[in-house]
Amino acid sequence: MSGNHKTSGPGPGDRPSNARTTGGGLFIISAPSGAGKTTLGREIMKMVPGLKESVSYTTRKPRAGEADGVDYNFVSQKEFLRMAGNGEFLESARVHGNYYGTSRKDLEAIMARGEDVILDIDTQGAKQLKTKGPFPGAVYIFILPPSLEVLRQRLEARDTEGEEQVALRLQNALGEIGEYEMYDYVIVNDRLDDALERLKAVILADRSSLKRVDRAWVHGNFNFSEKKEVPE
Ligand code: ADP
Ligand code: 5GP
Repeated sequence: MSGNHKTSGPGPGDRPSNARTTGGGLFIISAPSGAGKTTLGREIMKMVPGLKESVSYTTRKPRAGEADGVDYNFVSQKEFLRMAGNGEFLESARVHGNYYGTSRKDLEAIMARGEDVILDIDTQGAKQLKTKGPFPGAVYIFILPPSLEVLRQRLEARDTEGEEQVALRLQNALGEIGEYEMYDYVIVNDRLDDALERLKAVILADRSSLKRVDRAWVHGNFNFSEKKEVPE
């Protein structure tokens, strides 16, 4: 039996998966509007413990069923521009005619609690984070619809936008899809279950990557000073 094996209960950063992982993982997810980002984000949080979605700020009007502070923080353009001027956004962009941004303070608060964060942001915001963001370990995931036709059908079936917005979102789709090479993973959201399995696999793989190993846990459990030289 190993002399230095300790049984320990869950500690900060521990995951129910038993991986001894540091918190603060960041998953940046982009997709053309209607590809299923919101659906995937909602479902993955039910499947994987320790994940939180950051609630963005936007000047877009709430859709039926959307709640302030839950789906977005809905603000006026004046308030958004004030926040932007104050440097309160880690990234921000104008998308489909509205402003969207990620609050630096909100994101840091989630990460400080040791939770992993999902950011559902557009390709411009992802590019800002990738080029000048303070998160070199972030994982970039792009969600593709199976085709533009399916994208159109999903946007129309969702029935949350007027005809003009649907047309604008479809018109912008190819420009967004064209950015896919900036991402680490590309997941086609054809069958929802399959896309969810893949997203889960990416998140769990990241939690087991070397950059996220809790070194204090390893060194607390394995006393390397007792290491024996291996005879030649
Ligand atoms: P996004 O957040 O990327 O704009 P949504 O998550 O709102 O997209 O999804 C757009 C529409 O497509 C919604 O009505 C949603 O229920 C539906 N949807 C999402 N994923 C799938 C899928 N794999 N198969 C069929 N419909 C889907
Ligand atoms: P929707 O209006 O459909 O909710 O979102 C439109 C687009 O804005 C989506 O591509 C979504 O990812 C993006 N978006 C949502 N929040 C943010 C954000 O905080 N920053 C950026 N850059 N894009 C965002």
